[in-house]
Amino acid sequence: MGNTIDLKPSDLEGDESLTEERKLRYVNVDGGKRCPFCGSSVVMCSYEKGQFVGDQGRLHLEIPSDCLTCKKEWIDFFTLTDVREAPDHIEGD
Ligand SMILES: [Zn+2]
Repeated sequence: MGNTIDLKPSDLEGDESLTEERKLRYVNVDGGKRCPFCGSSVVMCSYEKGQFVGDQGRLHLEIPSDCLTCKKEWIDFFTLTDVREAPDHIEGD
């Protein structure tokens, strides 16, 4: 809250490195829905290729993603943060 990251579109052009600013924006502002390199919303997250990495307590799920606009590829890290009891009957689609 109140911790916005002021990154102008011009900051996303030219330099292709994944800076800390871009990581923070990707995770906290864009929620993984925009390319961390060019800002395009045409990104593919390959959930079916996800792999669990690490040990108990420090386990994370690595999922490869790529941008259909700039063709960059990256890995999303997902961590287990909570659990809740499932309802007795989970309704199907
Ligand atoms: Zn891109």
